[in-house]
Amino acid sequence: MAAMNAAAPDREQVVRRYLDNSATTPLCDEARQAMLRAMDVYGNPSSLHAAGQEAAMLLRTARGQVAGALGVRNPVPGEVLFTACGTEASNTAILGTVYAKKHRVGNRIITTDCEHPSVEEVMKRLEGGGFDVVRVPTKGGVLDREAALAALEVPTLLVSMMMVNNETGAAFDVSDVFKAAKRKNPATITHCDAVQGFLKLPFTPASIGADLVTVSGHKIHGPKGVGALYVSPALIRQKALQPYLIGGGQESGLRSGTENMVGICGFGAAAEAGYARLNEHIAHMVSLRDALVDGLCEAGIQVNVPAGRRAPHIVNLTLPDIKSQTMLNYLSERGICVSSGSACAAHGGKTSRSLLAFGLTPHEADCSLRVSLSAFNTAEDVQALLTALREGCSRLVRIKR
Ligand code: PLP
Repeated sequence: MAAMNAAAPDREQVVRRYLDNSATTPLCDEARQAMLRAMDVYGNPSSLHAAGQEAAMLLRTARGQVAGALGVRNPVPGEVLFTACGTEASNTAILGTVYAKKHRVGNRIITTDCEHPSVEEVMKRLEGGGFDVVRVPTKGGVLDREAALAALEVPTLLVSMMMVNNETGAAFDVSDVFKAAKRKNPATITHCDAVQGFLKLPFTPASIGADLVTVSGHKIHGPKGVGALYVSPALIRQKALQPYLIGGGQESGLRSGTENMVGICGFGAAAEAGYARLNEHIAHMVSLRDALVDGLCEAGIQVNVPAGRRAPHIVNLTLPDIKSQTMLNYLSERGICVSSGSACAAHGGKTSRSLLAFGLTPHEADCSLRVSLSAFNTAEDVQALLTALREGCSRLVRIKR
């Protein structure tokens, strides 16, 4: 085994350096405190008695906090729906609108060729059901504007595009395409999976021209198992979103099921805390990212996604003929956590669709690592990673092409 070439350091001595924040982030103090408080509020927010109203108050606060972090003041009922995760929010956004609108604006849906499975798998199912799905190329980390505009020539039901790719870290100009779609046909619905863009890039749903925006708690130092879907007041008025989960009518009838109060309160607190320090956090991540990119270039390691198109927190790199899994194990033995793709791709063991769409060869994709930062990382984390990568590159056995 290649990784066995180098002696593993003593586990007791190892300091953990967590650089896999696109998979999930550590909980912030604000979220932890809010969750501890919410654990003692046992009422059901739908109950009309005092215990229920106490919970309803916490729910309102959290909704205001998530809305506020999206730049939305005083959200109307239904404008921010809490869901069980980002995956559910995107499933709701896509399935809830295309079936509500199927017979109104044709059956074309436009997306990209590198969406997270929570969107791509829905697209595949819709294609099987007769929808005409067009995937706009994202080669080189750039959304192909001409291809998107050409696809919009056919009456389009929905445009669903991610803000930041979770594997390459490419930040896409979705706003340009969403606005072009609305100019062409105001009835076209626009959805953005902003799970990797929320509190990493400054935006509001209105600023990017999105009717629907997906966000997730555990990518912003909140808990796992909670997400939210922003729904524009216009869509609510037009009843253009049908509920995906039906039942007791919670969340303005758009997402039934008793709310995950502890998760929601943690998510709200994390969103508020992250938004309050957004510019500072972005500047910090950008400076760490740039130090990392400089160090990688000095070490002769290929950095994917050119400058100017990178999100502040994700760097994708290709190792010189070393399997990403081999390097991942080597780094992990030294306390450094990075990823050889997204957490979901790691389970499937398949070559990353996003990296192939970016333009890497299958060999390059299999030698690629994702480093993802958060506001909690330090310059020491980045230096420790660079040192270990340099050592790893000289010690690990290379694979033949
Ligand atoms: N969209 C993107 C871009 C993601 O990176 C992820 C998670 O990695 C998701 C959606 C799914 O979010 P969740 O884990 O909350 O379902």
